[in-house]
Amino acid sequence: MEEKCATPIGKLKQVADAMLVEMHAGLASEGGSKLKMLISYVDNLPTGDENGLFYALDLGGTNFRVLRVKLGARMVVWLSRICRGAYPPNLMDWDIKSELAKFVAQEVKSFKVRLAIFLTNNVSEDMTRLDFWKIGWPRCRGAIDQSDGKTGCSYARISSGTGTNAAYVECAQAIPKWHGALPESGEMVINMEWGNFRSSHLPLTDYDLALDVESLNPGEQIFEKIISGMYLGEIVRRVLLNMAEEAAFFGDILPSKLKIPFILRTPDMSAMHHDTSSDLEVVGSKLKDILEIYNTSLKTRKVVVELCNIVATRGARLAAAGILGILKKMGKDTVKEGDKQSTVIALDGGLYEHYSEYSKCMENTLNELLGEEVSKTIEIVHSNDGSGIGAALLAASHSRYR
Ligand code: ADP
Repeated sequence: MEEKCATPIGKLKQVADAMLVEMHAGLASEGGSKLKMLISYVDNLPTGDENGLFYALDLGGTNFRVLRVKLGARMVVWLSRICRGAYPPNLMDWDIKSELAKFVAQEVKSFKVRLAIFLTNNVSEDMTRLDFWKIGWPRCRGAIDQSDGKTGCSYARISSGTGTNAAYVECAQAIPKWHGALPESGEMVINMEWGNFRSSHLPLTDYDLALDVESLNPGEQIFEKIISGMYLGEIVRRVLLNMAEEAAFFGDILPSKLKIPFILRTPDMSAMHHDTSSDLEVVGSKLKDILEIYNTSLKTRKVVVELCNIVATRGARLAAAGILGILKKMGKDTVKEGDKQSTVIALDGGLYEHYSEYSKCMENTLNELLGEEVSKTIEIVHSNDGSGIGAALLAASHSRYR
């Protein structure tokens, strides 16, 4: 597994180049690549001068967030509520227009009721179950710099939670498939849908191929299936199952829970990976509680941690290679004389937020790929709630009432 998942720098550079090629192809023509490279019609980043009160909704793969975002005096202050795994189970069968709208409306109503209680300081017990944050203007210097039109900044946003995606600011002239009038700003935000990237350079194992074949969307979202939160734990489960079947890794009796797809979730994998106790207590209890595998030896636990490390490292390093591809497309993978622009990469999503071994590895790999000099020109920002705040800012900058 370690050999098959290996991601030496040479391979990562090939992956980055393949990403670059696909980006060009996706921008050249509709359907020109597995990367959709969707035109977002956002041709201006917010300036920092937006003001007013806005609500935003973020429908993620697992979580649903409602945000109340107050803009003004170059500040963003927001309160958000995360509804963890809130979607009703039959969501997929619903008529998207009516039932989903009803669900969203109910959640917004519930948010506003709870908010009213919160804002009048009459905090009920219920509030302890809610997440509220209050934070200043996110350090999106680029967006602010751009308002004076002198310096500008390059901006890319990578999100990895249940699924994964990336967006960045592209030169409008570099989008051949767009036949409309060029925007005044000369720029356009592109939603890459990068989860659907695939390349012969990706180190795919038999476990990944089997996972893909048995998935709801075989042949699609291959990059997502090796780097994002929905799948990392499942890959580990598949390898452990094989080790149990082929090599009696957990003893003579095959642990039956190990056969259940998606039973090992990525948060559990990361808890095992982060276990620093001398007897790997967390690993022992996760194996016991989730997989009903009792009395594991320290040696067995160490192998499990190593496996988590192999799968997470491959994902994180490939994600870094993908970012290098984007930086190449933006011309930001080298330092050019006289170019004072910094590049901001905003990271968002549960995987980056909670899986620190993953995010550390990704950032280190990106630095390794770029080298010291270029790395200094790149600013990595963790932007919790970034999707929702971004939506509110766009609503504000396109509002008729601003
Ligand atoms: P969504 O994908 O619904 O937008 P998030 O960005 O909050 O929501 O990401 C949730 C995902 O993040 C989970 O499905 C899981 O894969 C991953 N995740 C959450 N907590 C952890 C954790 N502690 N360790 C690793 N991954 C986590």
